[in-house]
Amino acid sequence: MRVIIIGAGVGGPTLAAALGKAGLDAEVYEAHDGPGIGIGAFLGLAPNGLSVLRTLGLLDAVRGTPGAHVSHRTEFLDGAGRRLGLLDDGSAALAPELHSLGVRRGELQAALAAGVRVEYGKRLVGYTAHAAGVVAEFADGSTAEGDVLIGADGLHSPVRRIMDPAAPAPRYSGLLGLGGWTSGLPVRPTPATTGRMVFGRRGFFLYGTAPDGDVYWGVNFPHPELSRAEIAARGPVYWRQHLIERFAGQLPDATTILAGSESRWFQPFGLYDLGNLPRWTSGRVGLIGDAAHAVPNSSGQGAAMAIEDAITLARCLRDLPEPEPALRRFEQLRRPRVERIIAEGQRRGGLKTLTNPVAVALRDLALRVVLRRLSRTSGHSWIFDHRIDFAEPVGGRG
Ligand SMILES: Cc1cc2nc3c(=O)[nH]c(=O)nc-3n(C[C@H](O)[C@H](O)[C@H](O)COP(=O)(O)OP(=O)(O)OC[C@H]3O[C@@H](n4cnc5c(N)ncnc54)[C@H](O)[C@@H]3O)c2cc1C
Repeated sequence: MRVIIIGAGVGGPTLAAALGKAGLDAEVYEAHDGPGIGIGAFLGLAPNGLSVLRTLGLLDAVRGTPGAHVSHRTEFLDGAGRRLGLLDDGSAALAPELHSLGVRRGELQAALAAGVRVEYGKRLVGYTAHAAGVVAEFADGSTAEGDVLIGADGLHSPVRRIMDPAAPAPRYSGLLGLGGWTSGLPVRPTPATTGRMVFGRRGFFLYGTAPDGDVYWGVNFPHPELSRAEIAARGPVYWRQHLIERFAGQLPDATTILAGSESRWFQPFGLYDLGNLPRWTSGRVGLIGDAAHAVPNSSGQGAAMAIEDAITLARCLRDLPEPEPALRRFEQLRRPRVERIIAEGQRRGGLKTLTNPVAVALRDLALRVVLRRLSRTSGHSWIFDHRIDFAEPVGGRG
């Protein structure tokens, strides 16, 4: 069986690696000219995603990428810098290679793509499915033929639009986001393996110091929805100033980081999620990762969900001889977990959109209680402790 994969972000190359392990033929086609071009500077990988990479033999390469650093504790602060609580994701109790990791997106994508076939500069513009296979069409006029076509092409997935023109559009969360990493800042280092999340009065700021002293930081802030063109038109000088004003008089480190970071990071993007898509597959065509179900950025699980999808889909295509039942089985296996994570992330994201001072005060109070309860009950272990056995047959007929 030959599988055509559209998109070499996180899920696409992971799927190609998993299919290779299953003895199936796969090739990835990516619109950009190289890995890591696009939104988001860095992201966190939790043990559930890391364990899949370990199964696929990709973990050492990812852990060895420049800038990769362990981060498994989060300290929560209010806008005045007062501590609201501390959460440990529990990964420190696992084997060292499964300790949660912060990674640079471009480095992650390059590491995942290193061992698989990827053609860059191939922007999918259409596809034709027929009884015996699927033909993908690219903007440069070339085509590629396979038995199955998988859209791992992200939030605004062209494959999804072609597969189901009536599919709902991603939902704007009410937040814009941006972030990056910066060297040589006069910021007090965060404690080892610990990041800080600051629930400010007019925005949410997160930062953490890696062992080499680089500060990894990000901002989510409530804002009316803007198109990419509208965001770009305002330019980095505007956005830097906008954020400095939002955090003025609050955590001084936030101001230092915003003022001292390179202009290239000041290009926000809208934060969206997408749940309850009526279908993830149609005939020989299927969706994985953000294309099928964009979990909210606040869940910190988007990349991990794409990775979990990838290994699960490879098992289904390995065990069920016909593409259609295999794709249906994949959706059955993955949908309940993904929808649960979306709901959890939406709840958390709602906390970041508040700016009314009374609502902010009530939120901070509630956070203290919730964080205390979560730290006692390991409330998120259902997310982090999930493991997928590659060898186990998927069962079912799809
Ligand atoms: C700011 C930010 C922070 C995040 N932080 C975290 C985090 O801490 N932890 C976490 O787990 N997740 C995080 N996420 C989410 C995570 O990045 C995504 O969920 C994850 O990248 C999804 O992987 P994917 O492979 O489905 O899509 P993507 O990684 O988006 O990859 C899609 C690929 O498809 C390509 N493509 C698109 N259209 C075409 C086309 N027509 N032809 C060919 N190729 C195409 C794109 O260029 C891209 O390379 C974050 C997201 C953002 C925006």
